[in-house]
Amino acid sequence: MKKGIAASKGYAIGKVFIQEHEEIVITEEKVTDIVAEKAKLQKALEASKVQLEAIKAKAEESMGAEKAAVFEAHITLLDDPEFTGAMELEIENNQSNGLKAIADVTNTFVMIFESMDDAYMRERAADIKDVSKRITANFAGKGGVDFAITEANTIVVAHDLTPSDTAQLDRSKVVAFLTNIGGRTSHSAIMARTLEIPAIVGLKDITTTVKNGDIVIVDGIEGIAIINPDEATLDAYEAKREEFLAEQEELKKLISVKTTTKSGKRVEVCGNIGKPEDVHQVLANGGDGVGLFRTEFLYMDRDSAPTEDEQYDSYKYVLEKMQGKQVVIRTLDIGGDKTLPYLPLPEEMNPFLGYRAIRLCLDRKEIFKVQLRALLRASIYGKLAVMFPMISGLEEFVAAKEVVDECKAELKAEGKAYSEDIQWGIMVEIPAAAVYADELAKHVDFFSIGTNDLIQYTLAADRMSEKVSYLYNPMHPAVLRLIKMTIEGAHKHGKWVGMCGEMAGDEAAIPTLVEYGLDEFSMSASSILGAKKIIIDQQ
Ligand code: PEP
Ligand code: MG
Repeated sequence: MKKGIAASKGYAIGKVFIQEHEEIVITEEKVTDIVAEKAKLQKALEASKVQLEAIKAKAEESMGAEKAAVFEAHITLLDDPEFTGAMELEIENNQSNGLKAIADVTNTFVMIFESMDDAYMRERAADIKDVSKRITANFAGKGGVDFAITEANTIVVAHDLTPSDTAQLDRSKVVAFLTNIGGRTSHSAIMARTLEIPAIVGLKDITTTVKNGDIVIVDGIEGIAIINPDEATLDAYEAKREEFLAEQEELKKLISVKTTTKSGKRVEVCGNIGKPEDVHQVLANGGDGVGLFRTEFLYMDRDSAPTEDEQYDSYKYVLEKMQGKQVVIRTLDIGGDKTLPYLPLPEEMNPFLGYRAIRLCLDRKEIFKVQLRALLRASIYGKLAVMFPMISGLEEFVAAKEVVDECKAELKAEGKAYSEDIQWGIMVEIPAAAVYADELAKHVDFFSIGTNDLIQYTLAADRMSEKVSYLYNPMHPAVLRLIKMTIEGAHKHGKWVGMCGEMAGDEAAIPTLVEYGLDEFSMSASSILGAKKIIIDQQ
């Protein structure tokens, strides 16, 4: 048995197909017949185009036009004179062999794109590598990178899968995939969730642990792969798989159903997102809105903070895609376990109790204002709610709102539009805020309970520590009391309360939260339908 990261839920039982990209050796050798080498390159480009057109058509069918657009971009690259034209010139001017010409031009482009400020442009480097891999394989006569999968119930095992590898998976044959590397948010994992096939990533050495033809059970819920299981295990998982599929089918009926309890209370079930594109999953699963956009992800994996315009684009995108459904965006929550390479933070004994989130933003207003201005400018494109993380008392909320007012005045002077209709709220994730909720509720428009932190602070049990995880209990009576106090405090003043911590999607906790009168639940997109079902069954 191997444990990895559960990337896409579901169960599959099938035969292993190890997908290996053949090693193609690139030499320094010069060519003499330049015309022949250029013709060979041309043929490789044409073959790549034919393959990509086919992949695009298949992707359009299985994943929709929007996801398939990436392959249109790949096709455009094949015709780009700056890219493939440069390869020809490399052969012509330097007598480079075709493979070396492809590699050199690719490296130059990848370097340029990877050093760009714009995150979107940096991500394009992956597309260039992907296209280049295809051209190289075709040039070397390795028949492209397509799978030779003919058998039904195949489990693809690979070191990693590129987006085009994943899109090519024939869903009538491939029932799951397993990779050595990757995390829940790696491209292949995102694609697997879109395709709705179970997947486990980050299995480290699965390509060498299994061999072609092995029977494997993929448990995409627990992130477990069971290799050559016995009959009893096979039977048990076959039953689990059937049950899961029947449940999923049944849940789909709820996509456009409004979530109302038996006693007639309307409850919003929303999705949490970390990247703008995640809104698609929220919509596909019938989410009523976005209950938490963790904006710190926009700041990660880069060398400098995103500019006002970059952030504006991201927020506008989400608001537009949600078409008038509410989007709750949380301001930067950095510090604690989330650090940025370009923002050195002081060494602290207890960083989770230290300089983080709103504390840092109020101290570093120049950083905070960039985000607030971007949020204000984007607000005209939809129904925006903004919340501040780690609020411990009224002063912080008032101070944050003062910075908002400063930004509004600046934008007004610059003649830039913003909406006056934004809701301003706070995360309730510090016990003090929960205890003081009835006072805070007089000043805010809404609360969103962050149970991930609220539980750790209430029970003094570090959310990252294995050793004290037995204490980290969402259903601890003290935690429940704080949640109840928060909801009652808000309702006393006619304000609504959401929950965006993991507890909101915890099927065991949902009935209690409904009973307390929670107005909005926000969770990972794939949990939305399951949560809707439970809520509908409550009084
Ligand atoms: C929380 O604390 O519950 C929360 C939603 O925020 P994060 O997990 O990002 O700290
Ligand atoms: Mg938190």
